[in-house]
Amino acid sequence: MLYNSTENKNEVVSASQAIAQGISRDGGLFVPQELPSYSLGTLKEFLALDYKGIAKRVFGDFLTDFTADEIDDCVEKAYTAEKFGGSNPAPISYQKYNGNNLNILELWHGPTCAFKDMALQILPHLLTKSLKKTNDGKDAVILVATSGDTGKAALEGFKDVDHTKIIVFYPVHGVSPMQKHQMNTQEGENVKVCAIEGNFDDAQTGVKKIFTTKEISDKLASDNMMFSSANSINWGRLLPQIVYYIASYCELVNDGKINLGDKINVVVPTGNFGNILASYYAFCMGLPVNKFICASNSNNVLTDFINSGVYDKNRQFYTTISPSMDILVSSNLERLLYKLSGDSDDITREWMNKLRTEGKYEVTPEVREAVMSSFYGGCCDDEATKTTISEVYKQSGYLCDTHTAVAVAVYDKYVSETGDKTPSIIASTASPYKFSKAVLSAIDGDDNLPDNEFDMVEKLNSITGVEIPAPLASLKDKKSRFSDVVNSDEMDEYVLKTLGVE
Ligand SMILES: *Cc1c(COP(=O)(O)O)cnc(C)c1O
Repeated sequence: MLYNSTENKNEVVSASQAIAQGISRDGGLFVPQELPSYSLGTLKEFLALDYKGIAKRVFGDFLTDFTADEIDDCVEKAYTAEKFGGSNPAPISYQKYNGNNLNILELWHGPTCAFKDMALQILPHLLTKSLKKTNDGKDAVILVATSGDTGKAALEGFKDVDHTKIIVFYPVHGVSPMQKHQMNTQEGENVKVCAIEGNFDDAQTGVKKIFTTKEISDKLASDNMMFSSANSINWGRLLPQIVYYIASYCELVNDGKINLGDKINVVVPTGNFGNILASYYAFCMGLPVNKFICASNSNNVLTDFINSGVYDKNRQFYTTISPSMDILVSSNLERLLYKLSGDSDDITREWMNKLRTEGKYEVTPEVREAVMSSFYGGCCDDEATKTTISEVYKQSGYLCDTHTAVAVAVYDKYVSETGDKTPSIIASTASPYKFSKAVLSAIDGDDNLPDNEFDMVEKLNSITGVEIPAPLASLKDKKSRFSDVVNSDEMDEYVLKTLGVE
């Protein structure tokens, strides 16, 4: 299977090149030229497989320049019972809310308690094998600018992976105390964490500058190293997300909730549009899906796009209690537009250029119709998010995090508006303990909040009895290993010094 750029069809690469390169030179994203097609017969075979078994089949169909042994190795290393707290890394929890079934797909049982582990636990293995195929064995240096979750998930994924080093930069005042502690206590011989004086944009600009400074890349190359990226537009992060939609469908069938061939709805709390796009690819491959419900917080640029066909990022940015969805440019939407415009690189490039220059574009009536017929867009603010956390807890005893609660609130609205009772999968993207402050205040009110993050975790646990995930429980006693802080204009120097390159 070959891949081409959404903005230039003549740019054609192998799977390993797409993963090693991350983004196309023209600025477009890599997409498979055609998708594998899974009949009901194939899905029936999948019913007998476990998560890893399904993952191996799906990866094998997309990564055709990997050997079966290489794929086995990646999957076995990534989804261990030890890392994911059991043999099924993505279990479904069956709950009821306002008279409807909530089938909650828990994607946060990995080492950092957020769904990004589902992809970032396997990406390092896919990437090192891809680099070996395409770049004669140079060591990969991963640079990450993070506003919280991605940095920690990338550190855990790349920790002690041979032939890789990872350096994470975060804004010194821009992450939560829990996120900071998660990163600064990171173990591993090949990891480094550094705060920068500045905001997330400064960190990201600094990283981009290092990536594109030829002098620095040349210095690395002479020491047999090269930069690479773990960011969310890499095909190697999207592909692993297709797997859990197929696996969870099989789980619904095996649990007797639906019959093979029945349609489901998919509900996803959305930021960069990666997670929901993966479910759409699964649908294009044959998974029976009726509707994709795209849930946003107050940063509702996607809700407006789905309802109007106009994408307009020129609007107020809100800092919310679901921070991983505080995004105004949903990068992976580009891949959907490419698909819905009939694989047109010209049209996609035109819209993306408008986004880059004017911050706004409008799709054709045909594409708007296609979007609306598959997707439902809805949003909810912080207050409704908290009410949902509290109501779900009261009705079912189930504790959701702030991002998952946005999905539940929008799903609830969708069902009341449409009366559509199709069985649904709701993607749950983080452990409630990762956002203890907001969850605790939703359940217990704002008056008696402890001022320390770990005390909040314990209070939430003592009120609800919901188990604290082991990686968060053990964090309190871990020693901080990193305390470097640099100015954003010193990041390049810092990288060279860390790598021991003169
Ligand atoms: C990254 C993230 C999201 C958004 O996922 P996208 O793939 O960017 O749409 C939602 N919830 C949590 C907890 C996340 O970390």
